[in-house]
Amino acid sequence: MFTGSEPFLPFTRPSIDEETIAAVVDVLRSGWITTGPRCRELEAALGARLGGRPVRVASSATAALALALRIAGVGPGDEVVTTPLSWVATSNVVLELGATPVFVDVDPATRNIDLERAAAAVTPRTRALLPVDLAGLPVDRDRLAALAARHRLRVVEDAAQSMGAQWGGREIGSFGDLVSFSFHPNKNITTIEGGCLVLNDEHEARLFEKLRLQGVTRHADGGMDVDVLGGKCNLTDVAAAVGLGQLRRLDEFNARRRALARRYFECFPRTLGFELPPADFERSNWHMFQPLLPPGVDRGRFIESMRAEGIGVGVHYPALHLFTLYRARGHREGEFPHAEDIGRRTVTLPLFPAMADADVERVCAALGRALRGAAA
Ligand SMILES: *Cc1c(COP(=O)(O)O)cnc(C)c1O
Repeated sequence: MFTGSEPFLPFTRPSIDEETIAAVVDVLRSGWITTGPRCRELEAALGARLGGRPVRVASSATAALALALRIAGVGPGDEVVTTPLSWVATSNVVLELGATPVFVDVDPATRNIDLERAAAAVTPRTRALLPVDLAGLPVDRDRLAALAARHRLRVVEDAAQSMGAQWGGREIGSFGDLVSFSFHPNKNITTIEGGCLVLNDEHEARLFEKLRLQGVTRHADGGMDVDVLGGKCNLTDVAAAVGLGQLRRLDEFNARRRALARRYFECFPRTLGFELPPADFERSNWHMFQPLLPPGVDRGRFIESMRAEGIGVGVHYPALHLFTLYRARGHREGEFPHAEDIGRRTVTLPLFPAMADADVERVCAALGRALRGAAA
């Protein structure tokens, strides 16, 4: 039983260093606190890291995804093929544009979109593919590119969770079509709230800039024009200062996450009947460590029992087609059995760079007791 003798271990926690805090204070004192030089610096640093394509930041990955879909030409009546096992932002942005998310089930091994099913779901109305790298494990980029090329589809990669992950020795975002990352505090690096999009060329980058801020183009003479309907989803320089401090440490953070994930595999009690995530130490950035509960375990009670042990457990995510909004659109139980099974049994155990190996051992030691607590 958790007596408070050990500090509560959350499932995630950002690591913000003193240098970053000082950089934030500098911005606050500078007299320019919204979008400005720090945002441009962050965009340049991300672009340099990702091989030179233009990168633009936004107030969230949700915003970046919505703008990416617009840039990809997605509009009312179009279909976008995606996964039902993601944060609901992935499909909400499709609905917001008046388009239809066409879900296909996941591959139970990777828990990512099953690309064979995706191929079968393509229709003449399909405009784009919207894959998600769940927990930071990349979708097969070779098969993804082949599928997109075969049907002449745009690809908007929801790489919210996979910053620093790799496919074929290349970093996610350094190749492909439009690639979106999130800087939410739970992600591998943060700007508090924020996100970015990797684009193909300066023309797309310019369009993103307009859509990000009211559609405005500023002229050299101080005038302006608006030729497209844009929104309000720019990032602040305060946030960008956080992001610059985080980006410097991305590789260090991800290496630590990988080491902690290895520790989980070493000390995980195999006899309890959990299903472990794919043991990928080349491609994944280990955004989350997510075993599946043994069938029949009451997840709510398991989480409660872990909390009593002083350990936070998250759920990422229930299959999103079963949310009321999506059921009202005709979706139902049984439609995507793999996503539904994973969505019912998945638990996110603590994994973040500041964790000690001993924390992993503590979690592993608590699992058996929590299972018995959930059964009692
Ligand atoms: C976090 C996340 C998003 C949304 O990111 P925000 O920055 O919170 O808008 C979208 N898709 C996936 C898969 C995510 O994990």
